[in-house]
Parts: sequence; structure tokens; C-alpha cells
Amino acid sequence: MRYLILSDMHGNLPALDAVLADAVGVGYDRVLVLGDLVGYGADPSAVIERTLALSPVGLIRGNHDKVAAGIESAMTFNDLARISIEWTAASLSAAEIKVLADLPRGPQRVDADVEIAHGAPFDEDYYIFDAADARRGLDAMGGRICLVGHTHVPAMFSEAEAPVDVGADMRVTVPATGRMLVNVGSVGQPRDGDPRAAYGVLDMERRLLILRRVTYDVSLAQRRILEAGLPGWLAFRLAQGQ
Ligand code: ZN
Repeated sequence: MRYLILSDMHGNLPALDAVLADAVGVGYDRVLVLGDLVGYGADPSAVIERTLALSPVGLIRGNHDKVAAGIESAMTFNDLARISIEWTAASLSAAEIKVLADLPRGPQRVDADVEIAHGAPFDEDYYIFDAADARRGLDAMGGRICLVGHTHVPAMFSEAEAPVDVGADMRVTVPATGRMLVNVGSVGQPRDGDPRAAYGVLDMERRLLILRRVTYDVSLAQRRILEAGLPGWLAFRLAQGQ
């Protein structure tokens, strides 16, 4: 089984389309979506539609999906996140709001080895940034491999070997035993200083995790944000990868 791993698309359609085109070349069988389909970007409806069309075998909600659906208030959001999620909620149809409202809470078990969570396996809204947080996550995991998003920063925490940078992408051998917690980064709003869209493919037969970065039309995504009347910083940050 080869899983395509998508997280934090955030309404960025040019980035999602570039990732989906790139992923065809890598090859995958099933799709996992780790939440935050909407928020920040100017194409939330199209991103929801594309995501559902992939018929993901694992699909969970993110914090922005919850607020857009009215499950939680935007009180904990900063001004930029709040303004964009209010715009998002107003632009979605009732049916699209219902799609977001019905997204299950993570963690979600995908198979005997793999589970997905938006933030952390012990708390869907928790940000795993450092080794101490990752240790909590590794201890709380139900499966052997836990895929997370939420920070928009690719990261790998493992009880086994370190990842190998092969240039075009990062390739990680999935340990035969021991646990692995992985963040493949964000499709729609990378925050690690690299503006390219991030995603992953997990090949269980070859015990291989591939972390990919894809160049996409950032200026188109920026134009869409500005045309929607969303704050300019949301467009600017895409080019900075932050
Ligand atoms: Zn996010």
C-alpha cells in the first residue's frame, strides 16, 4: 500500500493541484488527509471538492475546519487567522459547511501500522515542535507510524534511523520495529522558509517514506487572496514560506 499524505491545504488550490500532479509521477494507491482543508487561502470550496474527489481512506478535521464549521469559535485565533476563517465561512455553501462539520476528530487509525492526527495523537490541536513534545506523541500513539500536520513544518521523530536527504526529495526508511512520528509539512502554507508545497508518500511494502517539495504558481495563489479582499500578509507569506 502506498499512501499519499496531504495536510494543511488551507484553501490553496494552485498548490494542491501542483501536488496532485506531482504525486501521479511518484505513484500512490490511497489518500490520507490530515486536516485544515480551509482557512487563509482563497479557494476553500474548490479544495474541499478536490479533496472529496480523492475518496480519502483517512480524513480528519483541523482547527481551521472546526472554526469554519462553527464547532469552535475563532477566539483563540490571531487576527489574520480570524479574518480569513470568517471570510471562508461566509464563502462556503451550507453543504460545504456540513462536510467540514462532519469531519471526524483525530487520531484516526488507518491500518494495523498507521494512524493520522492533525496536531498530536493525544490532542488534535497540540503543536508538536520539539523532541519533548514528540516523545509524548510517540508514547501516545496507537499505531507504529503516526502522521501529523498542524505546524506546517516537516519533521520526523523516530526510534530508528535518521532520514537521508537524496536531493530531489527526502527518503526515510520506515523502521521494521519501533515507532515513527512524521510531519510531512503543509501543502498550502509552508512555514519552514521554503515556499514550495510539501507532501509525502508512504510506501508500506518498500518501507519507504518520501517527503516531497513541489514548485507551484505562488503568484496565482497570491492574486486569488488579494482579489478576495483578504489581508495582504496572507499573500506575502506564501512567497516567504512562512
Ligand atoms: Zn494548518
